[in-house]
Amino acid sequence: MRYCARCLYPENARPTIIFDEEGVCSGCRYHESRIKLEVNWEERSVMLERILEEAKRIAKRNGNSHDCIIPVSGGKDSHYQVWLLKKKYEMNPLLVTFNHAYNTPAGNRNLYNLVEKSGCDFVRYTAGVDSVRRVSRYMLQTVGDLTWHYHAGIRTYPFQVAIERNIPLVVWGEHGFAELTGIVSLEDFVEFTRWTRKEHDMRGYEPHDLIGKGGITERDIAPYIYPTDEDIARVEVRGIYLSNFIYWDAKKQAEIMMKEWDFAPVTYERERTFNLHGKIEDHANDVHDYLKYIKFGYGRATDDASMEIRHGRMSREEGMAMVNRYDAREPSTLGTYCDFLGISKQRFYDWMEPMRDKRLWQKNKIGIWQPQDEVFRHEIGDLEEHARVLPSKDRTMSDSNRRMYYNPNNPPLKTGIQALDQPSVSFMVI
Ligand SMILES: [Zn+2]
Repeated sequence: MRYCARCLYPENARPTIIFDEEGVCSGCRYHESRIKLEVNWEERSVMLERILEEAKRIAKRNGNSHDCIIPVSGGKDSHYQVWLLKKKYEMNPLLVTFNHAYNTPAGNRNLYNLVEKSGCDFVRYTAGVDSVRRVSRYMLQTVGDLTWHYHAGIRTYPFQVAIERNIPLVVWGEHGFAELTGIVSLEDFVEFTRWTRKEHDMRGYEPHDLIGKGGITERDIAPYIYPTDEDIARVEVRGIYLSNFIYWDAKKQAEIMMKEWDFAPVTYERERTFNLHGKIEDHANDVHDYLKYIKFGYGRATDDASMEIRHGRMSREEGMAMVNRYDAREPSTLGTYCDFLGISKQRFYDWMEPMRDKRLWQKNKIGIWQPQDEVFRHEIGDLEEHARVLPSKDRTMSDSNRRMYYNPNNPPLKTGIQALDQPSVSFMVI
């Protein structure tokens, strides 16, 4: 297996990455291009202001009190989006949550916190657990994804609300697809469309494709049906990504939100990453991520360490140690989801068997799947030395980052709040 000479992504990473002649991946190059001065952020900030002013004007004309929708999960990004639009741009957003039912106690704590601190109006749609179970189970078996309904719901429901309430602007945070792979560039000013939703977020499936499969009915898929072209045109809804207009620095933004609005990371060591503040609202994330490991041989620790390496906050050596510590671990919540979906663990692994990337996975003599390669088995050579970024003074595992990343030698202080101090093996539906 070939790995990026800078970050830790393997050549079979999803979505697709490509390597240049220096052995550096497109995701790393994209990251670099954002830091370079070629991007005129001031000009872009003015563009954003114009879009937001226009939304205010339309809202006023329509007699609508909300000038935009911000889809929120309660995570660090949604805190920042709301804070920025409210404080800096004086918008009056309607916060919209698609509740997929797989919530952590920490996530609920932070979502309630966001609603309270922002003072914004808030709509939360909770998908019924019966439909969640059917859709989740079918998509796990078919494409190895038990969280398809999240992506479908989060990317659809805000637009249903936009049409219903005549609100023409939906504001997303980061265009994460670009940062992961570098396939689209900042010059493209990508906006959210029906197509990007289906291809990037929904694995090429439209909800109607699911009807009749695994007992899924028309009722089950209602929250995932995107408005018609006519409706979109009538309300003139557009979906923009803030990361096209402001320099997106996820860590700095999380720090601002911890300080300004008391966004709270967890304090316990998570099972699949050293990161204590990202996606902590998503209870199924551990299993979701473990599925990625089963398929492609890498997981969340590779993602998180690669990001730290690109920022110069972590060395390649430190990153490899993180991958070694976390990526292969079976999460203790796997049993919870197998029980919920009504399958045995054995069946779970049987379903996943055809989805394993056979370039990486082979069965050993006693029939156990073994990865044939791992990034930390590779020695650091000239290519890797040459590809290193300048180390930042800000080190991932330093004392000042104690609340944000888990350092076993210097773990974060407990808060006294159980939701933040204790992992929960079961999820909260509401
Ligand atoms: Zn890379």
